[in-house]
Amino acid sequence: MSKPHIHVLALGGTIATRPDVTGAMQMGLGADDLVAAVPLLAKIADIEAETVSRVGSHSLSFDQIHALAARIRTLKADGVVVTQGTDTLEETSFLLDLLLDLEIPVIVTAAMRNPALTSPDGPGNLLAAVRVAADPWVRAHANALGVVAVMLDEVYAAADVLKVHPTRLNAFASTQTGPLAALVEDRIVPLALPVRDALVAARRRLGDAARGQASPVALLWMSLDEPGYLINALLAAPDRLGYRGAVVAAMGGGHTPERATDSVVRLATELPTVVAPRAGGGPLLEKTYGGPSSEIALRKAGLIWGGRLHPLKARILLETCLRASLDRPAIAEVFSAWN
Ligand code: ASP
Repeated sequence: MSKPHIHVLALGGTIATRPDVTGAMQMGLGADDLVAAVPLLAKIADIEAETVSRVGSHSLSFDQIHALAARIRTLKADGVVVTQGTDTLEETSFLLDLLLDLEIPVIVTAAMRNPALTSPDGPGNLLAAVRVAADPWVRAHANALGVVAVMLDEVYAAADVLKVHPTRLNAFASTQTGPLAALVEDRIVPLALPVRDALVAARRRLGDAARGQASPVALLWMSLDEPGYLINALLAAPDRLGYRGAVVAAMGGGHTPERATDSVVRLATELPTVVAPRAGGGPLLEKTYGGPSSEIALRKAGLIWGGRLHPLKARILLETCLRASLDRPAIAEVFSAWN
């Protein structure tokens, strides 16, 4: 039986670092180096390696991920593995999922432990990602799975995966839904298929978002006694400081501190403003609490309800909506599917 053709695209990140003379880890390795470090890959697939960039994922841009999606669309491979840094994997994988509608597996992986440490996880994660990309169940369900992240022998949906620890080896989790599959011995054990109605509907509305302009979205985290000064400064500034939209990471089921609520409401009249759960997930409430800073009041005031999307994912979706020139009602419709 012929082996699947898997294309590995390397962006950079810890997985691609090497020590400089001082011992500090610097970006340096390319896709060829990553693949060469795992000879077992050749047994599983015919690998093509391509170095896209050598940057930390904390410095990646929306435009770079749009360019990556465009590159992936041109590939003739049976599966694609993207290697990058862990810092923004939860964001880039979701953006790729919004942009790509493919019948082949697209996997994003990374490393928590750099190559100079004892037992780095990069080679194992790359091997696991290629195994997932080559797996018959994954290939048969590639479109239903969408873009997935593979870290530490688990497979996560892009819409759900979160980086939940800054340094630990098991730094990734899908806290709302759990993993889609696990790697055990030489098997990929399927556990679930993701519910993707909201994502598919969003993709339909977004069309070819890649044509649009970058549209910065401010992420405003609500916390105890937040006075709203930053929002007031944004509203008073010329051109809203360059922001085209905002995500308010709200408390609990969708609440803001009462002293900041006027500012939040004014913001929503000026820019498309999405409320997302600072708790990290779980649908927001819609009709339980009354009072000026409750979900009922905020919804009535025109805040867009982000449903179960983590604030980081809501920001990715809002930027993509704005880039695609969707107006406020269309943006609200896209987000309502996540409620
Ligand atoms: N700062 C690195 C990055 O995201 C961290 C990592 O790769 O884990 O590129």
